[in-house]
Amino acid sequence: MTDTSAHKPDFAALRNQFPILSREVNGKPLVYLDSAASSQKPQLVLDAVHAAYAETYSNVHRGLHFLSEASTDAYEAVRGKVANLLGAPSHDEVIFTSGATMSLNLIAQCHGPLVVGEGDEILITVAEHHANIVPWQMLAQRVGAKVVAAPVGKDGSFDIELFKTYINSRTKLIALPHVSNVLGTVFPITELSEIARNAGASFVVDGCQGCIHMPVDMAALGCDFYVFSGHKLYGPSGIGVLWGRAELLAEMPPFMGGGDMIDVVEIERSTYAAPPHRFEAGTPPIVEVIGLGAAIDFVQSIGMDHIYQHEAALIAYGHERLADVKGLNFIGEADGKSGVISFTLDAAHPHDISTLIDQDGVAIRAGHHCAQPLMTFFDVSSTARASIGLYSQESDFDVLATSLEKVNRIFG
Ligand code: PMP
Repeated sequence: MTDTSAHKPDFAALRNQFPILSREVNGKPLVYLDSAASSQKPQLVLDAVHAAYAETYSNVHRGLHFLSEASTDAYEAVRGKVANLLGAPSHDEVIFTSGATMSLNLIAQCHGPLVVGEGDEILITVAEHHANIVPWQMLAQRVGAKVVAAPVGKDGSFDIELFKTYINSRTKLIALPHVSNVLGTVFPITELSEIARNAGASFVVDGCQGCIHMPVDMAALGCDFYVFSGHKLYGPSGIGVLWGRAELLAEMPPFMGGGDMIDVVEIERSTYAAPPHRFEAGTPPIVEVIGLGAAIDFVQSIGMDHIYQHEAALIAYGHERLADVKGLNFIGEADGKSGVISFTLDAAHPHDISTLIDQDGVAIRAGHHCAQPLMTFFDVSSTARASIGLYSQESDFDVLATSLEKVNRIFG
């Protein structure tokens, strides 16, 4: 939450801090428009990862020597940085996982059965990533509950009044994205938290495409759980976060058993550590956590509010620019959308589009984006998706548009 940047940042200069962005692909300057899948890393994060291995590396916790203490301090300090980024009341509410997928599975397996029982309903939308569908299906199968999905509008917008009609006395858990990874739709989390609270349902937010693009504050959002992946926030892969309310984490049983998550172990039984360590069995992703800490320092030095404004302007520009491309249809045009522009082209299949424009050095994603129910809802097998990060620039969309016109000429 802390915003240390008083002045408008120079985003062109910030872009230069990402070494990979100066490389060429297929003999052309790289145009990286696949940040929703994973973002590129600034030098500062690469340096932090290198230093963690080269200067302070050792396993964390329990070690009484210098390096173990240095590693443990660096690792544990990142909990505070994450809590600060999320506006979470306590660093003990921050659990490190391997990614958002693991975070959601942890909630489904450890919190799910405490609140969802036989005949109950878990409410999601058709716009979920598979990571926010399958764990709930597994929970539903385990306890005899049902997963119910509310629709979105044909323009990708979210209708809160319509959503409310899907809630009933059996709704015990609601799981929604902060921002859709296909539509870019921003869900009204604060209002939805109140709705979930009034319904007596737990509220899980898949923040994968949320906190990477905009300031967030858990107190203001009011949800019970919020998850994200470090690799989309300019940090390393293999590290994710689960934030949960202290009182909910306290009553949850462990996820995995092993070292680090225990209090006392006997042959017949064990007692468990308090959260967050209860949920971090085994050697954690030490260096990945330290790299995430550097990434958080980086985005906070810019200011999440500045990143939000910069990217909102870019998405508006991208829409304007791509609207000129003949036969291009946007999938997702909700007001205030964030981060991604999904589209189809009358002339060519998304896979052909992606393969062809790769020849111009343009990296986009084509496929179902791990959102098959949404593809079914929009009656398409796949879409092309251009997605941005703080290093993206208007010229990325100029090159994309020119390259798409070329696709039109080839297939036209
Ligand atoms: N939810 C959303 C909205 C996502 O965009 C993604 C990543 N594409 C995930 C969940 C899963 O994240 P990860 O693969 O890093 O666990």
